Amino acid sequence: MWKGRYQCAVTLSVDFDAESLWSGTFRLTTPSPLSRGDYDVRAALPRIHALLDKHDLPATFMVPAQVAEEHPEACAEIAGRGKHEVGYHGYYHESVLELPIEEAHRHARRALRLHRERPQRLVRHPLISSACSPEG
Ligand SMILES: [Zn+2]
Repeated sequence: MWKGRYQCAVTLSVDFDAESLWSGTFRLTTPSPLSRGDYDVRAALPRIHALLDKHDLPATFMVPAQVAEEHPEACAEIAGRGKHEVGYHGYYHESVLELPIEEAHRHARRALRLHRERPQRLVRHPLISSACSPEG
């Protein structure tokens, strides 16, 4: 049952993959695909911030840890808005379904160490077990 004037709920999730989609998932490291990832940082992210700010909307930004390493200013800007949450989106935008579980956990632990160094809220990836929780 919806309370008051609310009639629906919406979740806004932004994959901030930058170059990791191309290098991590598709293993394409030539300038053309990497420039698409660069576009995420230079052009798309500011537009997304402007749209979310205009409507005062919070969102969940799914960020591969590699992107947080390579674009700390962009990730700090996401966190600095104070209304968004940042979710673990793999280390290299890899599919955890294709990794041995030990390697997926190793990536997640490495990402958690990185996130602890940054002022971002971390939400748990649904496919990572509680062994990789921020307390673990
Ligand atoms: Zn993605």
